[in-house]
Amino acid sequence: MKIGFIGLGNMGAPMARNLAKAGHEVTGYDTAEVVLEGVRKAGSIAEAVRGMEVVITMLPNGAIVRAVHADIVGAADPETLIVDCSTVDVESARAVHQLAEKAGLLSLDAPASGGTGGAEAGTLTFMVGGSDAAFAKGRPLFDIMGQKAVHCGAAGAGQAAKICNNMILGISMIGVCEAFHLADRLGLDRQAMFDVASTSSGSCWSLNTYCPAPGVGPKSPADNDYKPGFAAELMLKDLDLSQAAAQESGAATEMGRHARDIYKAFVEEGGGRGRDFSAILEKLTNG
Ligand code: NAD
Repeated sequence: MKIGFIGLGNMGAPMARNLAKAGHEVTGYDTAEVVLEGVRKAGSIAEAVRGMEVVITMLPNGAIVRAVHADIVGAADPETLIVDCSTVDVESARAVHQLAEKAGLLSLDAPASGGTGGAEAGTLTFMVGGSDAAFAKGRPLFDIMGQKAVHCGAAGAGQAAKICNNMILGISMIGVCEAFHLADRLGLDRQAMFDVASTSSGSCWSLNTYCPAPGVGPKSPADNDYKPGFAAELMLKDLDLSQAAAQESGAATEMGRHARDIYKAFVEEGGGRGRDFSAILEKLTNG
């Protein structure tokens, strides 16, 4: 396929490279100077879009996605599928679907989880919103960039799934960190706490798979001085998105709001920027 790829950052660059490696003809565009092996460089958005069967974007936020997609629909061929893989607010996702629909183009919102490691290895999970026809056309590309693509529903459903999942993750990581902190204060050995809770009703991904206590459980960023992994500021971004969506939809998400406030304080004044999101345990331990 002829693929245009816009946004060649930490995630987009390896995703575009994997598509090229799989034999697709990839043309890339980024406002920064980025050179990628096997990817033809475009000098403008229009050049990365004209004549393409699929255009993929992987950009920082909703405002940039809206602006870039307005340019994309102006330059796209009638058969082009537009796929936004960025993590953005549900409203922006729906707005860019509408832009595409008005121009008669197929579109998908398809945020990814799995981080830069997953992007490099081609093992991302995509959560996808849009029509059946659009999903069918995009699927072979998700299979190259990732290991799983779930069609979650209509426009915006992919972003909705991503922020709901990450709200669970943020809340559960704080819960696990607080439990280890309480165990410390009670003189309970961390390993004993893990052995019990990881096989009891306290078990969850944040404890069993991504344990925030160094030297306990499987290897995780805690064992690498909390180098991300999944950076605290990215968790804050996703928790902010879930709070924006909760306000918009009138959903009661008290724990989600509290988790957002905790990550905001951690990132902005608690030394959390650039550290893994599980380093909340270190913060609790050191005060
Ligand atoms: P990044 O900042 O490394 O990359 C974004 C790229 O977009 C940059 O290269 C930037 O120059 C480019 N860009 C900005 N404005 C542009 C424009 N107008 N036109 C063209 N290019 C433009 O960010 P990233 O880590 O690659 O993340 C991208 C998206 O993926 C974000 O929405 C993020 O939330 C999401 N995400 C990131 C991770 C992760 O672990 N990094 C995991 C899952 C999802």
